[in-house]
Amino acid sequence: MAQPNAIETFPADLEDAILRLKDEQNAVLLAHYYQEDEVQDLADFVGDSLALAQVAKSVDKDVIVFCGVHFMAETAKILNPSRKVVIPDLEAGCSLADGCPPDQFQQFKDAHPGAKVLTYINCSAEVKAMSDLICTSSNAVRMAQEFKDEPLILAPDRHLARWIGQELGRDDLIVWPGSCIVHEQFSAKELAKLKVRRPEAEVLAHPECDASVLDQADFVGSTAKIIARSVESPADTLIIATEDGVFHQIEKKLAEAGKRKEILQAPGMDESCACNRCPFMRLNTLEKLYLCLRDLGPEVTVPEEVRVKALAPIERMLALSA
Ligand code: SF4
Repeated sequence: MAQPNAIETFPADLEDAILRLKDEQNAVLLAHYYQEDEVQDLADFVGDSLALAQVAKSVDKDVIVFCGVHFMAETAKILNPSRKVVIPDLEAGCSLADGCPPDQFQQFKDAHPGAKVLTYINCSAEVKAMSDLICTSSNAVRMAQEFKDEPLILAPDRHLARWIGQELGRDDLIVWPGSCIVHEQFSAKELAKLKVRRPEAEVLAHPECDASVLDQADFVGSTAKIIARSVESPADTLIIATEDGVFHQIEKKLAEAGKRKEILQAPGMDESCACNRCPFMRLNTLEKLYLCLRDLGPEVTVPEEVRVKALAPIERMLALSA
């Protein structure tokens, strides 16, 4: 695994060196909105899970460097298997993916015979391979509509599942009880207090948040939708309940639109920690990105049998999202 250590030396201008290596290795750099600002600024494309999957499918460079978490790099490999897919830190996991082990999910499926399976993209390739359809937070409600009158398993995020059920007026969804450790930490009580202090603010929240937070939101949507709404909203003050990596893109898009707004982070349960930052996403540093491009590793691979099974529900989602 490419990891900086005491004996590694790095070029004085790391950004330039990364861009040079990117050209030499014929690589494309994809970054999720939750990456550090400096990583986002070097990327060829910055997006949410849906947009990154759409881009990964059509990459024609030899190498995809995925600055995100492991399941995202796996999805890129599933969609574009002839490209080499590398990630700066192989330990960049996700509490949702890690909290849904394939063997236990198979048992869960077996306990609900006849139910269709709609799985959030934040899961392993093996769990995708057991699914009828994949969704992202951008298209989750739309994808669930594909199974209107059928028993439906939703995995692995219980908060997203609850929100989908509410949007569709369904209380019969069969839900895997996983959660995101970042979005779950926003405090409904502290948010209510902040809203009293700042009544003019619009509250924007990601559907991975707890119901007690979403119930106070003026707008619920994926990271990409939160960014777009932040610019379009008539409000001059925004309270954002998602990973604060999105702030960088919101600021950039506001500047492009010639607007200025005050952006406040929704308060967490523990004000003394940076719990609103995904510890997995933030494992990808510029130093690790440099080593990853230099050494073309660590590589993310998916067994072909699993890849082929996982590809079908992802392609179905992409076709329905086109
Ligand atoms: S923010 Fe949450 S859902 Fe996203 S990668 Fe981190 S742990 Fe997973």
